[in-house]
Amino acid sequence: MSGNPISRRRALMFGAAGLLAAPLAAGTALADPIGTNAVKVYLDPGHGGSDPGAVGNGLQEKNLTLDIALRTRTLLVNNWGVTVRMSRTSDIYRSLSYRSSDANSWGASLFVSIHINAGGGTGFESFRYTSTSSRTVNIHRALHPAVLSGMRSVASVTDRGLKTANFHVLRETSMSAILTENLFIDRASDAALLARADFRAAIARGHAQGIANALGL
Ligand SMILES: [Zn+2]
Repeated sequence: MSGNPISRRRALMFGAAGLLAAPLAAGTALADPIGTNAVKVYLDPGHGGSDPGAVGNGLQEKNLTLDIALRTRTLLVNNWGVTVRMSRTSDIYRSLSYRSSDANSWGASLFVSIHINAGGGTGFESFRYTSTSSRTVNIHRALHPAVLSGMRSVASVTDRGLKTANFHVLRETSMSAILTENLFIDRASDAALLARADFRAAIARGHAQGIANALGL
């Protein structure tokens, strides 16, 4: 994870200066934003509060997306020193316009929205806006295979590919934005994976590594 020599050097420097934060436990709820460097990543766990998102096989999308996003934040902060803000760090409702406006006013350099799919399919797919910058296309091309690779470190997962969509959080954000749909909650075999903490940790590793790759960290 921290094999990048520059990141390692930076970690040593911060460590020597006593500035390196103690490692965060996955799921730690802290005031936003946290992190130490100039790269600002906005993580958006889909749904929350009165909006459960998709439900199936005893699972609710809002809980899975929050768990994956918190784990991703921990990795980005601890391994790369990324400054991370989240649309929510607990089970509360956030409107779509809150999510895009909050990221825009904070000045994020990348927005990543994390969701779980439904509708009878299986596997992983990810989205960028229908018409977007080459920077966003390149970030999408770096992030997608990293997430898939994280998932495949634990289980066999279908690659549904890179897609475009006219989603609010992709259209209304002023920075590069990607939305991931991490397996299908209404498919028993996908849900069985999503119920496993080690699989959610692998999804988070994929997101963190993909974001680091995409931003050249
Ligand atoms: Zn969703």
